[in-house]
Amino acid sequence: MTIIAENLQAVHDRIRRAAAAAHRSAEDIRLLAVSKTFDASAINAAWQAGQRAFGENFVQEALDKIAGLNDFDIEWHFIGPVQGNKTRPIAEHFAWVHSIEREKIAQRLNDARPAHLPPLNVLIQVNVSGESSKSGVAPGQERALAAMIRTLPRLRLRGLMAIPEPTPDATLQRRRFALLQSLQQELQSDDSSANTLSMGMSDDLEAAIAEGSTMVRIGTAIFGSRKAVKSGH
Ligand SMILES: *Cc1c(COP(=O)(O)O)cnc(C)c1O
Repeated sequence: MTIIAENLQAVHDRIRRAAAAAHRSAEDIRLLAVSKTFDASAINAAWQAGQRAFGENFVQEALDKIAGLNDFDIEWHFIGPVQGNKTRPIAEHFAWVHSIEREKIAQRLNDARPAHLPPLNVLIQVNVSGESSKSGVAPGQERALAAMIRTLPRLRLRGLMAIPEPTPDATLQRRRFALLQSLQQELQSDDSSANTLSMGMSDDLEAAIAEGSTMVRIGTAIFGSRKAVKSGH
């Protein structure tokens, strides 16, 4: 068994334990493997161990891997900031985008989504920590952006995403995730397909699952430390 396969199993165990503690079904929580900075062989190892959904942050890096892994049935998720001049390759090569925060970007992704593909699944990113340096719309502003996205036929609004500030304070982690959940529940009451809550990373997946996460985005706990890998090359 590869180390990546072992790590994946350990992450699935954490998800199962966190789900049980929250009286939830682990089946309701999808695992997105965040493969940024890792090469196609790492993705291949995770794929061999059964993983099918992968998240990438950087367009050019992702396109190289997507081309190299063309024969694999992988669902690609774009989770990094979307630049206006990169909307076409994202619309052409990804199934999901987690990081919508501007109408202009939503419009461009819609316009560039190829007709032979199903609508692009999108999540609105919300800045739940209120830090000015962080991406995402302010809490409350997601409603107007959601209404605009719902007018775009080539996008499908699936829910919300957040990256709270890193903190070891479990109470604070829970408060940030609880805020995102309450906003997502409001969205879903207008539109049942907005059923996705993308929250939780390697260090806080338990808190995220306790507050209703349906998709955790896990990098380090599967592939190892990104800095160590980079300096090792
Ligand atoms: C890198 C990244 C992750 C994974 O973070 P880890 O702490 O390595 O699990 C999740 N979400 C986003 C948006 C990221 O950029």
